[in-house]
Amino acid sequence: MEKCPDCGAPDPVHDTHGVSYTYKDRHTTIPSVSGYHCVQCGGVALDGAAVERFDELVARFHRRVDGELADPAYIAAVRRRLRLDPSEADDLFGTDTGAFASYEAGKATPHPSTIKLLQLLERHPELLDELHG
Ligand SMILES: [Zn+2]
Repeated sequence: MEKCPDCGAPDPVHDTHGVSYTYKDRHTTIPSVSGYHCVQCGGVALDGAAVERFDELVARFHRRVDGELADPAYIAAVRRRLRLDPSEADDLFGTDTGAFASYEAGKATPHPSTIKLLQLLERHPELLDELHG
């Protein structure tokens, strides 16, 4: 391979090593990835034989992150950090009465938009004021 398909840098190196991967702000390293690795952008053109395994590991990571984000303990931790009680959280997020209590008891799974808003507020708690507005 003469140049990186992502950034055009010359001479990507054929090698097998871990590749960092990010999904929903969660980072991991996919181990032992065979292909042409670009030193400039970190991109990798996978070997044909490596594609299936790579896709499987990525899918597994996605499932793990999605599971963690819908995890009752995570939801409760962020809500507490925002200094909301469960019913205030329902008001603010526009969820049904009792919804947060159900999420935190593991009896219901929040809609992806609720998770996204939680993540956003986890990173930018100052935005809470705008929701109150
Ligand atoms: Zn590159």
